[in-house]
Amino acid sequence: MTVDEIKQNVSMRDVLAKYGVSVGRNGMCNCPIHGEKHPSMKVYADGYKCFACNSAGDIFKFVQEMEHCDFKEAFLILGGSYEHKSDRARDIAKAKFDRQRKLKAQAELNEKLFRKYLMGAIDLCYWWIQNRKPMSDDWCYAQNMLPWLWHVYEIKYLEGEEVEEANVFRRCKEIRQRFITV
Ligand SMILES: [Zn+2]
Repeated sequence: MTVDEIKQNVSMRDVLAKYGVSVGRNGMCNCPIHGEKHPSMKVYADGYKCFACNSAGDIFKFVQEMEHCDFKEAFLILGGSYEHKSDRARDIAKAKFDRQRKLKAQAELNEKLFRKYLMGAIDLCYWWIQNRKPMSDDWCYAQNMLPWLWHVYEIKYLEGEEVEEANVFRRCKEIRQRFITV
């Protein structure tokens, strides 16, 4: 927790309770700092003031007085952590960076694969046209597919526009499968 988080979560009464001090209905208690039998310490939501020994402050000051320690130690005793905030920020930043790097790598891979599929399908169609009997089913199929494939190529690589990649992938796979099974 940070200082602010501790202040939000830990009340003066919580801290006093940890030291076994109970607060009266009038908001007064025996001061455990100087030790007494008649309540001289006024307790506030976020701090205290002893009218006998004049010690006053917030929960951190109180713990410092009780433990004879500095602020840093009181902060740690109250659940504070110096690493917490920066660690979390660093983790978030790192996760974001990793995610972006992964997405970029995926996009590059997808881009390569797309080009490979498209050019592969075009090659296959040319092969078909050269090696199959004109007007046969396969020959016609290749003749029909080629203009569409080149159209996709033009849009994507010459005009730099978006194409429906999933659809192109699907058609290219179909072409591949048809050629492979024959
Ligand atoms: Zn006192």
